[in-house]
Amino acid sequence: MGFFRFVGRHAKQQALHLAYATHIVAGARIVRRSYRRAFGRTCPKCRAGYLHPFSVPVDGQQQPFRGCDNCDYYEARDVRRDDDSLSRLREIAEERLQDMGGEEIALQTRRFRRLSRIWYALALLVAAGALALVMLQLFGLTFVFLLLFSINLAAQGMAASYRYWQLSHRTLFVRGAFRQWLRNGEWII
Ligand SMILES: [Zn+2]
Repeated sequence: MGFFRFVGRHAKQQALHLAYATHIVAGARIVRRSYRRAFGRTCPKCRAGYLHPFSVPVDGQQQPFRGCDNCDYYEARDVRRDDDSLSRLREIAEERLQDMGGEEIALQTRRFRRLSRIWYALALLVAAGALALVMLQLFGLTFVFLLLFSINLAAQGMAASYRYWQLSHRTLFVRGAFRQWLRNGEWII
């Protein structure tokens, strides 16, 4: 192998390495972004940053928080048990609702009701499929899958009807709202 051919091959390899490196870096970036999307919550205040965990010593004890990487928003790790965080979130939600206006809120509320009904209907459909398998005495993996899928769909339906209730009763980020909703029994709307 001549010197120039060697240099040429070497250069090509280097170029390939670089190309792979950019692919890998780009891939890592995509993975990181999707990881953040999947596990990191978007900041409720600026809606551009993501919330990251951090802890601060309070009275000699490490208190866990989550903070935005884009603005000054922060909240307790367990938001539901922290009145300060809840009231901050409530303020943000109220501001946003005011920006939306009555008509838009009504539209969103109706959208949640429709969504809830669709999820429940799908859950019923899948449950009927599971029931059919029971009647045919087919308790295989498909049955388990259909059952779990149906439960999942019903949970989505519940979540949407909870959102509907929250919007129509203005109980966004109110402590104990979920329990109250459960007690009210307005699961199917
Ligand atoms: Zn933010």
